[in-house]
Amino acid sequence: MASSPVIDFHIHVIDPWQWEKEHYELNNRFKETSGLYEVIDEEHHTDPKRLVALMDREGIDYCCLITGRYPTNEFTLNFCRDQPRLLPFARCNPATEPDTGEAARRWAAEGFRGIKLIPHSDHFYVNDPRLYPLYEEASARGLPILMHIGSSIFLGSKLKYCDPLAVDEVAADFRSLKLIMAHAGRGWWHEQCFFLSRLHRNVYMEISGLPIRNLLTLFPDLERNADKVIWGTDWPGAPGFRKGREGIEALPLSTAAKAKILGLNAAKVLNLPLTPVTSARAD
Ligand SMILES: [Zn+2]
Repeated sequence: MASSPVIDFHIHVIDPWQWEKEHYELNNRFKETSGLYEVIDEEHHTDPKRLVALMDREGIDYCCLITGRYPTNEFTLNFCRDQPRLLPFARCNPATEPDTGEAARRWAAEGFRGIKLIPHSDHFYVNDPRLYPLYEEASARGLPILMHIGSSIFLGSKLKYCDPLAVDEVAADFRSLKLIMAHAGRGWWHEQCFFLSRLHRNVYMEISGLPIRNLLTLFPDLERNADKVIWGTDWPGAPGFRKGREGIEALPLSTAAKAKILGLNAAKVLNLPLTPVTSARAD
């Protein structure tokens, strides 16, 4: 796998003082293998250098740092500032952004590499007209939109806002906008997400937060859709970078399909080089 990059499209960096009850549960469930506590310093802050060192040890070239309910967009941007292998994503909530088009221009200028929508938590549909200026600007700038599509354990989540039919409408209205469905419809809409990513040239499914051992049960035809599947972990609420990567490598899929899922597709979406970062191959 050494000739193509490995990209984790979905991780969260939140300092411990902001963790909610669910964060504690998830982070501690996986603490033996996630390496989370190795990247938190003596003052209880997450350290970008330590995170990159962990990525090196576990064979990861790039990570997308997703702003969700926490932390702030500013925190995520600052965290990634001197680390070209950490790619910040801004969260957009149409209820608190008076002009989502202006916000997209600002985020692109600041250095964000993508935008995250959390419809289940912020309670909007992704085809909400307030988001259309965002989609126009993101499309013009090649910024991918990562949308949470599926279940969530966090308080106040409402599944109805994740209906993939709303993604279909956005995909039809913005033919060159890169739309990535995080969690690929977890729990409710796997078939629909698979279908949509086959149907629309610009729609991808991202598989973070799904048990990899069940992946081919959830998506028996995964090999045929290998151009449209993007790997991510949802770290630190996941068994870890290496475990996730090795889980994909162990699947009965072609070598070419695994390389696409583990990084080549993401590299194209993010306009990154299609070659690995050498220091991430320490193992
Ligand atoms: Zn997440």
